[in-house]
Amino acid sequence: MDIKIRGAKENNLKSVDIDIGDGLTVVTGISGSGKTSLVFDTLYHEARRRFLDIFRSSSSRVRMPPANVRSLTGIGPTIAVGQNLLNLNPNSTLASASGLHPFFRLLYSRFGTRSCLSCGANLQVLTEDEIVAVIKQKMKKDDVSVTSALIRQTKGSHRTLLELLVTEFGLERVLVDGAAWKKKQLKSDVPHDISIRMGTFTADTKTSQLREAVQTTKALGSNSIAIRDSNSIIVVSMSSVCAQCGSWYGAVEPKHFGMKCIHCGGKTCEKCNYTGLHQKAASVRWKGKSLPELMSLSVAEAYQLFKDVELPSTAKR
Ligand SMILES: [Zn+2]
Ligand SMILES: [Zn+2]
Repeated sequence: MDIKIRGAKENNLKSVDIDIGDGLTVVTGISGSGKTSLVFDTLYHEARRRFLDIFRSSSSRVRMPPANVRSLTGIGPTIAVGQNLLNLNPNSTLASASGLHPFFRLLYSRFGTRSCLSCGANLQVLTEDEIVAVIKQKMKKDDVSVTSALIRQTKGSHRTLLELLVTEFGLERVLVDGAAWKKKQLKSDVPHDISIRMGTFTADTKTSQLREAVQTTKALGSNSIAIRDSNSIIVVSMSSVCAQCGSWYGAVEPKHFGMKCIHCGGKTCEKCNYTGLHQKAASVRWKGKSLPELMSLSVAEAYQLFKDVELPSTAKR
């Protein structure tokens, strides 16, 4: 659709009428002829004003004044790449110049997938409801066995704990180093894993039983649950601790995607997964790509990637 500007009178414009068609349009003219008044103060101003109006209730904040133009049709949401902006900053990209970069940081910090920088395991903190949903999903296809990890790679005989667990849950539910415990004393100078079988769940299992298993895990002070069916195992975590190696990791914020790796200062190194980014941002991927990888795509490639994106379920929270 053509953009039709009628009676533009912003600044020194003398009631200008213009039609702009598809493709690239260049506005040229001598200094002071009104290029900026037409493109920025009329076209962009009006597009932005109308776009922002969608989100604004009539009572909130002061509205932007409309541009001095009789009518303006055929405009959608618009991006202005500021004058001279591109050649000032060597790190400038189309995303930063167009003001989209903050939204990419937000996308990555909220919806990216993280992996542990120590062991590479997928990191995901799930709520009780989400874990129940994961188990249910798996139960549709296969019987699912659920175990809670209590001790991970910790040296000791763990005698008191094991006795307590046997009393509380019964011997058949106590697993040591991945197998049923035979009441044999553990070697105290080697690291051990201890976990509790929460049960095997089938398609008939009630949701309340699943919930109970998750709550029991929490009550035991454990933060990770292993969900196993006949051909796969997933380990989910209820806190910011890697379920596989126990590394602690903090929340990732949009700002971390604007911070450089402390080891290489942004030149890329092994410690930052060759992203040049802050440790917390370094392992975050979205659609399998790190943020620098996304930034290096052409507009056409990025468009393809975003075209079919669906909102993640967590976005509705
Ligand atoms: Zn790890
Ligand atoms: Zn680095």
